[in-house]
Formats: sequence, C-alpha cells, structure tokens
Amino acid sequence: MFELWIPIGDISADGRDFTFTDQALWRKAWKEFSLPVTAGKDLEAEVTILPQPEDGALIRGTLKGSVNIVCDRCATSYEFDLDVNFDTFEQIPDEEFDEEPRVRKENGELQLNIGALLWEEFALTLPVKPLCSNECKGVCPGCGKDLNSQKCECKQEEGDERLAVFRNLKIK
Ligand SMILES: [Zn+2]
Ligand SMILES: [Zn+2]
Repeated sequence: MFELWIPIGDISADGRDFTFTDQALWRKAWKEFSLPVTAGKDLEAEVTILPQPEDGALIRGTLKGSVNIVCDRCATSYEFDLDVNFDTFEQIPDEEFDEEPRVRKENGELQLNIGALLWEEFALTLPVKPLCSNECKGVCPGCGKDLNSQKCECKQEEGDERLAVFRNLKIK
C-alpha cells in the first residue's frame, strides 16, 4: 500500500496547499507493486485540500514529472511524461466494509491518505499497453531483432504464403 497520511482536521475553510516531492515514496511503491517503472524526471505533486462538512475534503491538484517504462512491442525503455490534473472528493466511508478508506479519524484527528490518492492518479495515467511510438515496429518473432533499428531476413525466408503449399509438396 502506498500510504501517506496527513492531518486535515485543522485546515481552514480556505484550504491549504501541499507539495509532495519525496521520490523515495514512489520508488518504494514501484518496487512493492513490481511495476516495470524507473525514475525519470522527479515526480512532483501540488495539492490543495479544502475541508468539507461531514468529515470530508475536496482535493485538487496536479502530478507532474516522468517515468521510464518499457515498450510493449520492442521492449526498450522510453520516457513517459506525466501531467495529470485531478479534482476529487474523499470522506470517511459510511460502511465498515470499505477496506481502504482514504479518510479516517485517528485519535480524534481527521487524516487523509494522500499517498493512496496520488498513487491512484499515477496508476490510472500509465498506459495499459505502453508504446514508445505508435509506429513502433516491435521485435521480430523469428529472430528477436528490434525492427526499429535493424532489418532482418525472416520475412524473405518465409517467402510467399501461396508458394509455401508447393514447397511442401512431395514429388512422387
Ligand atoms: Zn517500441
Ligand atoms: Zn527476424
């Protein structure tokens, strides 16, 4: 779990700004979730928290920076830029069975798990199928060469599919 609880009970109605620049938190989370992600430009989150009645809060912010991820086609690492805006509402859940509430009361102090929220924004932004470019040619399934930078002979060896029929013919 990517957890970072901050007290929000004493924030005035005007709200308060927070900046999160601790890169160690992100690295720890990538490791924990076994995400094939490495650090790029430092990830910086700027967040404004506005308390709402009934133990809730509006959270507005941005998450910027970059990470290096691996292309799904050619398996090379490339830089993925993050520039996320979010605007969300969190409150103490009514039901007991919410396993991971974002807002809780600890020793009478209202707290927000800003870590879980930032992690969600981060995870949602990552592409499901990362591509270094839409034109990425990928890796040849035959010889394993990166077809973006190398040519391979596999296609020619396979030859024309229509002719393959004849190649297997046995002459009696
Ligand atoms: Zn690629
Ligand atoms: Zn090949």
